[in-house]
Amino acid sequence: MRLSRYFMPILKEIPADAQIASHRLMLRAGMIKQSSAGIYSWLPLGFKVLRRLERIVHEEQMRAGHIPMLMPTLQSAELWKESDRYDAYGPEMLRITDRNGRDMLYGPTNEELITDIFRTHVASYRDLPLTLYHIQWKFRDEIRPRFGVMRGREFYMKDGYNFDLTREDALHSYNRHLVSYLRTYERMGLQAIPMRAESGPIGGNNTHEFLVLADTGESGVFYDSAITDLKFGGREIDYRDALQCQAVMEEFTSRYARTDDTHDQEVFERQVPEERRRAARGIEVGQIFYFGTKYSEPMGAMVQGPDGRQVPVHMGSHGIGVSRLAGAVIEACHDEKGIVWPENVAPFHAGIVNLRQGDGQVDRVCEKIYDSIRALGLEPFYDDTEERAGGKFATMDLIGLPWRITVGPRGLKNGVVELTRRKTGESEELSPERAVARISEIYGVRENGRNCVP
Ligand code: ATP
Ligand code: MG
Repeated sequence: MRLSRYFMPILKEIPADAQIASHRLMLRAGMIKQSSAGIYSWLPLGFKVLRRLERIVHEEQMRAGHIPMLMPTLQSAELWKESDRYDAYGPEMLRITDRNGRDMLYGPTNEELITDIFRTHVASYRDLPLTLYHIQWKFRDEIRPRFGVMRGREFYMKDGYNFDLTREDALHSYNRHLVSYLRTYERMGLQAIPMRAESGPIGGNNTHEFLVLADTGESGVFYDSAITDLKFGGREIDYRDALQCQAVMEEFTSRYARTDDTHDQEVFERQVPEERRRAARGIEVGQIFYFGTKYSEPMGAMVQGPDGRQVPVHMGSHGIGVSRLAGAVIEACHDEKGIVWPENVAPFHAGIVNLRQGDGQVDRVCEKIYDSIRALGLEPFYDDTEERAGGKFATMDLIGLPWRITVGPRGLKNGVVELTRRKTGESEELSPERAVARISEIYGVRENGRNCVP
């Protein structure tokens, strides 16, 4: 992409109503624009980040054997009356009446809809286990939408639902989700800690929330600091292997880590030595639930078991806040100059800064680098405007691309350009060809599987 042809409305003024860094930076970098309270347009730069986050979520869900689909945003109230949640959900649910007087709602979650699909089409235990998921907009009429996309009213969520014959199988599904979530957040450059949580209106009592530690987080959290040393890393997991999944679950959840809803000071002090006790704040970026037959029983989602009897299926639901993650990544990865994207979620892979637009040689080298990076299947972002150098650097720092290649007449005299890492500010001088080769090396390994989208 060439900046001169792009749409990236940078704000010079810091918006007064934006209280936290990620909200300020998303507005300043022209990633989002509020359309009404808690509802945002995703401008091109923000949209690219959202798509990259979404893609990682898809890849990791499919890797775990979960099947993508798409359900509508608008749902009929009938199903919610069957599960008894239509009244219970309260004022967060946006209720709509269509022209025929039918009660509809903008889905805040999809347990009812998916259970209805399941009961219509699945009748035998032989079709289990089954996990279906989608990534779709949700609406919750939050009483206090704030912090930009972190607490929106309309937000983009991955929600997945497992159907299993027994409680044991459903717990395997639960663990599989836990493992896949650890991988997902790590690929986004985040450490998200599974913590024991409350289930809220989804129901059930087996649930973990995933929290990214950040001072601006809305949840109070209490944990054993040893948990922050745990890394999932690149381990290969056979998701069909229940014991393997369970072992990872145990490794990541056996130490004390709870949100304020479930925190118990006495247990905390008994289990964790004083020097490792931490009280902090966190951003909830996902939650997994096992809730047994809470929906399958009232809604009649039964299968014929091996002994011929009809039994309600065991279910769980599992959510990732995809749009919230855009904010959460920025909370975790920024400095005083702007965003510092992790490589896997950056809107573009590398920036190119032309220090003397209109100089024949400088322009030629920039174009060459631009074409070569594109030929690698990567996306460069080329600042080909007439702006002065200081302004170009400030924009690149603000939008936070992980790597910047700076091309100017002085360097070219010696045959070099400058490659700078946004995270550390470290620079090296190398030939234009070497700079492109370095970009290729950096992304070569990380981008594997990039063509695997549903
Ligand atoms: P919260 O406690 O933050 O209100 P929740 O527990 O009600 O969230 P879940 O039902 O667990 O939310 O939804 C799954 C994920 O969707 C959450 O972990 C969060 O990342 C995201 N999410 C929930 N509500 C919002 C919101 N209003 N705006 C953006 N993302 C949200
Ligand atoms: Mg939650």
